[in-house]
Amino acid sequence: MSAPDPVSLVWFRRDLRFYDHAALYHALKAGGRVYCAFVFDTEILDKLPDRADRRVEFIWRSLQALERALRARGGGLLVVHGRAREAIPRLASALGARAVFAHRDYEPEAIDRDAHVARTLADLGIAFHAFKDHVIFDTDEILTREGRPYTVFTPYKKAWLAKLNPFYLREYPVERYAKALARPPRTPLPALEDIGFRPTNLSALKLPIGMAGAAALLEDFERRIDTYHEQRDYPALGGPSFLSVHLRFGTLSVRHAVRVAVQRGGRGAEAWLAELVWRDFFSQILFHFPHVVARAFRPEYDRVRYPNDEGRFRAWCEGRTGYPLVDAAMRCLNATGYLHNRLRMVAASFLVKDLHVDWRWGERYFAERLNDFDLASNNGNWQWVASTGCDAQPYFRIFNPVTQSQKFDPDGRFIRRYLPELENVPDRHIHAPWRMSLAEQQRAGVVVGRDYPPPIVDHEAARKVTLGLYQAARRAR
Ligand code: FAD
Repeated sequence: MSAPDPVSLVWFRRDLRFYDHAALYHALKAGGRVYCAFVFDTEILDKLPDRADRRVEFIWRSLQALERALRARGGGLLVVHGRAREAIPRLASALGARAVFAHRDYEPEAIDRDAHVARTLADLGIAFHAFKDHVIFDTDEILTREGRPYTVFTPYKKAWLAKLNPFYLREYPVERYAKALARPPRTPLPALEDIGFRPTNLSALKLPIGMAGAAALLEDFERRIDTYHEQRDYPALGGPSFLSVHLRFGTLSVRHAVRVAVQRGGRGAEAWLAELVWRDFFSQILFHFPHVVARAFRPEYDRVRYPNDEGRFRAWCEGRTGYPLVDAAMRCLNATGYLHNRLRMVAASFLVKDLHVDWRWGERYFAERLNDFDLASNNGNWQWVASTGCDAQPYFRIFNPVTQSQKFDPDGRFIRRYLPELENVPDRHIHAPWRMSLAEQQRAGVVVGRDYPPPIVDHEAARKVTLGLYQAARRAR
């Protein structure tokens, strides 16, 4: 009598696709029967403040596409609602698996969870194999000559580009070995309500979802990539790729994205590739310096005494600061979960350096709202803007919300999209409507103080306060 085929379990997390998938490839290639599973992890879901969460719906809908792809090839997807720490070992044991395959995650809580899962599996005699997938280079693959992590972007990028070769971009061809997929008993995917959530406006936003959605967005971006470097800073133009949510949840393989950029070449593709390098950079920063989750990368800036005015923070969250570009940005974020990179920088800078609110408050708010929220990128960028991070912008560089607006949304097209009350304000006043005379305001149909807030602070005065706060922190011992 021959021994039964060995069983493996592939645990999908932030890699919701059926192509170029390292963990699935290794499991399938090892042979035997391969089951696939996803856990709606209550340890994470329970912390989400809003029961209508676009990220949960995005995952839920992407899982449907993944399940269809697996079923079409003789497999299927087991979807569990519970604590992954216990659910994965329980499932692996029930299936009689000899190994669990997954991708590495670099967030401190995920590292802790995976270590826990690996220990429990080991006690059951089951192996846990974790592979690189979320980044091009792992945390120990790009180090300085002294073997230390880079903390400055430009030399990191140089080393990253120098090391890049086809080996790191090779595709993991899962289709070729799909016959090893095992079909689990048909259990319908839980409804959103079953996992405690409600539908959001994701359908109305027409955000392309799942692997097919990512492919469609990438195809569209490939038509624009050559002008990326010229257009990317203007929020009213469709300059960027809008792929961040797909990179976040792995409906797009980052290797595939980099292959596209490398094959295309030219200034647009090179500029885009540099953004993908930032993504790797912040990922390794979070891994090597996990203190950044709670504190400044540079400890001296933990001494900045932000006054943290709750009313100002609420006005910022709700897009009621009286600075049109900031308000349009925040209303866009609230309505769609997406925010253009330039606007993330302007809004973040305004919160910290005009309203003097701790960067962690803003970081938390973005974490709740961004479809593409990623701890490493969000934290790294907030610390960059707040000047507390590694290789951050100097504390005395403070965005002027009016000149940023004049430069990057010159005719107020983006502003008008999210602030319809300013629809008829002439272009030259749209960036600072309080500078209109009362007669001009009446002609434009918007009276500042009645129909739109007056500026919450005076930028010049606020700037001086910021300089004082940061200088005091640097002087303090
Ligand atoms: P594109 O311009 O097409 O860029 C392509 C990809 O490169 C992005 O999808 C993203 O994966 C990566 N990328 C681009 N810029 C950066 C960057 N500065 N740092 C790291 N990766 C980058 N990005 C996130 O993915 N998640 C976040 O939670 C996040 N929070 C941010 C918070 C602040 C305060 C700021 C200033 C930036 C933040 N970013 C974050 C980075 C950047 O704004 C977004 O990645 C980008 O706007 C996503 O849109 P896109 O896919 O159209 O970008």
